[in-house]
Amino acid sequence: MIPTIGLEVHAQLRTASKIFCGCRAAFGAAPNTDVCPVCLGLPGALPVLNARAVEFAIRAALAFGCTIHTVSRFARKHYFYPDLPKGYQISQFDEPLASGGAVIVETGSGTRAIGLVRIHMEEDAGKSVHLDDAGTAVDFNRSGVGLIEIVTMPQIDSPALAAACFSTIRDVLVALGVNDGNMEEGSLRCDANVSIRPAAAAPLGVKTEIKNINSFRYVQKAIAFEIDRQVALVTSGQVIQPETRLWNPGSARTVSMRNKEDAQDYRYFPEPDLQPLTVSADWIARIKETMPEMPAAKRERFIRQYRVPAYDAGVLTQSPALADYFEATAAACGSPKVASNWIMVEALGRLNAAGITIGEMRITPDALARLIRLVESGRITGPAAKAVFERMFAEGGDAEAIVAAGGLARVDDDDAIETIVRDTLAQHPVPVEQYRAGKRQALGFLVGQVMKAGGGRTDPAKASAAIRRMLDAQ
Ligand SMILES: [Zn+2]
Repeated sequence: MIPTIGLEVHAQLRTASKIFCGCRAAFGAAPNTDVCPVCLGLPGALPVLNARAVEFAIRAALAFGCTIHTVSRFARKHYFYPDLPKGYQISQFDEPLASGGAVIVETGSGTRAIGLVRIHMEEDAGKSVHLDDAGTAVDFNRSGVGLIEIVTMPQIDSPALAAACFSTIRDVLVALGVNDGNMEEGSLRCDANVSIRPAAAAPLGVKTEIKNINSFRYVQKAIAFEIDRQVALVTSGQVIQPETRLWNPGSARTVSMRNKEDAQDYRYFPEPDLQPLTVSADWIARIKETMPEMPAAKRERFIRQYRVPAYDAGVLTQSPALADYFEATAAACGSPKVASNWIMVEALGRLNAAGITIGEMRITPDALARLIRLVESGRITGPAAKAVFERMFAEGGDAEAIVAAGGLARVDDDDAIETIVRDTLAQHPVPVEQYRAGKRQALGFLVGQVMKAGGGRTDPAKASAAIRRMLDAQ
């Protein structure tokens, strides 16, 4: 069986205010404090379109190579839900802002272009908050926050490609500055349409839709589960129901939410309170001039300009802030690959563990560059540099000062090294005997012990040479 997958990605626009009113669009305010008659859907309130939201939607459309329609139209999508006070959502229906274009996805086995059906604009709904013991409350802060919906063609043929496509869309939107990429706060969500068919030439099978998936890993897992579920149904002679399903991360299953057979008719009609949206060629041209470098182009440039491996370039271009940090560090220390290693191995792991972003890290690019230069000039060893990094990560400060205050400079003095080596050999007679008996691996252990005894400050090459000198001499 061949799976066929299409994605619908909802991305909140990072505008200061909501799409049809002046309320703040930021996440995290106390419930129902960023609201007004417009976004509460009070009778008689009129929407006014936020020009910045349109500009952001155009940026996204340009980045994916879509055709931007000079005239598009908002429409009312009717349904009832407690978090939708108007009883309809203002969206776009048969005349979207943009159509066509593609998401260019880098995979382990080459580049895939996933075609786009459309990109349209709409408003977000409020949010139901399920309280433990007091029923359900509604928070309207999110009501009226601007969204774009990016709809791909059903051209994705594996769960991994679906996750990579979603991830690429995120990277592009974050690089454009139109979305913050924060899936935990729900500012980026994905629905997946999944079907199976016996052969590529066969018509598409009955599809099910998995709603509101909020991580790349869950996208992959939910789709993989859904494909297996559909294959099991078909092979046991059962029928796939067209339905909407939810991914439950706890049980790692999709569960049925509602059957499409009784799906409501949204009764779309043109929004009478808004003029058709007209976008001039001149405006599009001006927006084009301000488009930043896209992640794929930046990746290529990093490989070319800094001679870092493709893997490094992929990691370093995940966000504009991370890429800028790398470029600043590489420029300041003059060793791009070394800078990349420090950022990928030392910084990113600690940032993840601490739950902070690169912009919030206390070590500035200049400070990291100075630390790198201390290692490269041989003033401190690799292990000591890691200790300095750890200290700078926790407390900030300058590498030189930390090295001076902590007595962390490399022990270079041959007499000092010999003393440490002599003591270490005396404490470890068994590996010494093994080494003498021809077991060369014992040398690595002894070097490790010397490094430990010297607080990581001893030059490992000199330590190794000193050990061999003493043991081979006898
Ligand atoms: Zn409002």
